[in-house]
Amino acid sequence: MEPKSLCIGCDTPGKKVNNIILFDVVNSSTYLCENCGLVWRSPLPSPQQIIDYYHHQYSRYSDRIQRKIASQQSTWLEENIKKLKLGNNFLFIEFGAGRGWLVKEMQNKAGIMKAVGIEPDEAAVNWGKESLGLSMDCGFVDSFNLPTEHYNSHQKIVAFSHVLEHLSDPLGALNKIKAGFHEHILFLEVPDGSLEGPVISLPESSLGEHFWSYTQKSLILFLEKNGYKILTSRTTGKKSYWQKYFMDQKFLAIQDEILKQIYSKKSIGKMEFFQYGKLFLSLLNNFLLTLGLKFFPPSRLDLPSIQILACYKNS
Ligand SMILES: [Zn+2]
Repeated sequence: MEPKSLCIGCDTPGKKVNNIILFDVVNSSTYLCENCGLVWRSPLPSPQQIIDYYHHQYSRYSDRIQRKIASQQSTWLEENIKKLKLGNNFLFIEFGAGRGWLVKEMQNKAGIMKAVGIEPDEAAVNWGKESLGLSMDCGFVDSFNLPTEHYNSHQKIVAFSHVLEHLSDPLGALNKIKAGFHEHILFLEVPDGSLEGPVISLPESSLGEHFWSYTQKSLILFLEKNGYKILTSRTTGKKSYWQKYFMDQKFLAIQDEILKQIYSKKSIGKMEFFQYGKLFLSLLNNFLLTLGLKFFPPSRLDLPSIQILACYKNS
């Protein structure tokens, strides 16, 4: 018998929703927690398989988009540092910093004394250092040696932006941060699983890079379970971002319905006439949406996401 896969947010056994081959190498399944909405894969690739995969797969959005995302995130952070009276002279440390756009934005914000980025991709680290003049280091969160003596002399904000959903061991990463930085503010941004979860649960899901799809509820439960106090949280983005993933399925369902009606009726009565009309309008609507998505594809800026600020104090 397969071992039960438990939700990391609320410990509920997951319901299997599909099978998927992760990174072309691991036969895995997708699970849903019917209590808190977390969607996750199990089993996951080994750390080495993950390193091998990302070695060839680094993709990034354009500088313009990255800068815009970083600007929105840093504005939200700065507002909350003020509003929640979190303090001054923060050291901002981002893990999975990419080329360092958020680090760059944060180093100019009120309350931030210094900002550094940690990133496994050496080329991105060098680019951030040379082109943006940033303080950056190479490393993964689980293998990085946190230079805690220096870092521990300041208040810290530790950031993970669109990283937690890619980690094979998010709990391990959190424990490492907690052990290294006894007191800190945590900033997380992840895709909003209440909208992404149904997409990665589709039978033919190809979005294998996300091992976890967190809902706001599941993320809060996960953090609280691990000693964090939630300071604030919000969702951003547009629902329509995921529309294209459901279009084909919807289209096929409508087509099926029409065929079923045609084959089951000898003659068309008044009621059927209205039903056909309704189906035709759905088809037209679908067609126009498809056309719209083709010419105006959703922007990464619209990706529905969850932002969360939490604090940790080792007592
Ligand atoms: Zn759960």
